[in-house]
Amino acid sequence: MARRAAEYRAAGRRIIDLTLGEPDFAPPAHAVLAAQEAAARPLGYAPANGIPELRQAARHALERDRALSYTDAEVAVGCGAKQVIFNALFATLGPGDEVIIPAPYWASYPDMVRLCGAVPVIVPCSAESGFRITPDTLEAAMTERTRWVLLNAPGNPSGATYSHDSLTGLAEVLRRHPSAMILSDEIYAHIRYGEGEYISIAQVAPDLHERILLVDGVSKAYAMTGWRVGWGVGPAELVRRITAVQTQNCTQTATVSQIAAVAALEGPQELLAQRCATYRQRRDAALAILQQSRHLDTLEPDGAFYLLPRLAKGDDLTAANSLLEAGCATVPGSAFGAPGHLRLSFATDIASLEEGCRIIVATLDGIP
Ligand code: PLP
Repeated sequence: MARRAAEYRAAGRRIIDLTLGEPDFAPPAHAVLAAQEAAARPLGYAPANGIPELRQAARHALERDRALSYTDAEVAVGCGAKQVIFNALFATLGPGDEVIIPAPYWASYPDMVRLCGAVPVIVPCSAESGFRITPDTLEAAMTERTRWVLLNAPGNPSGATYSHDSLTGLAEVLRRHPSAMILSDEIYAHIRYGEGEYISIAQVAPDLHERILLVDGVSKAYAMTGWRVGWGVGPAELVRRITAVQTQNCTQTATVSQIAAVAALEGPQELLAQRCATYRQRRDAALAILQQSRHLDTLEPDGAFYLLPRLAKGDDLTAANSLLEAGCATVPGSAFGAPGHLRLSFATDIASLEEGCRIIVATLDGIP
């Protein structure tokens, strides 16, 4: 959809693009400065698991933000959270192994699992459950072939987060299945609209320390998607295996990017709250328009920067095509295991966002 939107634009048509999953902010100025200074120095290869300064900064950030302690040997840096997740799956999965993926899901998870020769087990999570997996549905999906359970909160595309109690319930199930690892993708942890601190399953279930890989990075929080820096923290043996994969594919993520990531993590953090406030304004402005539609039912997301309205009728691909023709690009929910929904990103300026939402309401409500 993003590509088609770009083609329509190149042909001179005005298209509001609500497809993109990346912040529209600049990276922090101190991160850019650190990169500029570093780029003028000779930078050779760095360790495959990341420069020591970044492993330390990632550990410190988890101590500061989530009260979690890790050692240096428990941190692996990669080219974005995406590569860390792929490396972890590649290092551990074999043919026939199963990976539980609650739907809606980030579109890359099932493909990554398939690329590793394993089987994605998609567990639908209804809008009624707030798009969250429940202990019962998790238990029903677990088998003796389950190697990983993927959790992502705030979720892409649902924005759903988990409370302390709901994580406690999931952890009880996971304790009964000791051969399954848990991957907690927390890349949107800093983009949240509720009160209180972010809660990770790693905090709720410290006894599962040896089975949890927590993944984070600078892409979303610090608007540094193109810098390609992410990390995973978890048991040292898993981190060693992740690093072995990393060594043989791209050696390491660019040293200059890692230096910028250290500056982002260790520099002033006020911009995180400021940006959240901006995202919240956009979310509320978009919701106010979308909720006027007779054809859409839109939950308020707890975090991330997406809305996932449910269509009252018709399929999502047809709706997304009609909307594109009317001048607004969205992504059909089917791409995320959410057929019958549309994903809209509100990581765009408020005027375009409001214009896009008005096009959506006018177009869908105009369909008999
Ligand atoms: N995890 C989720 C849920 C995402 O939505 C994304 C990006 O869209 C990523 C991971 C990838 O992040 P990175 O840029 O660090 O590879």
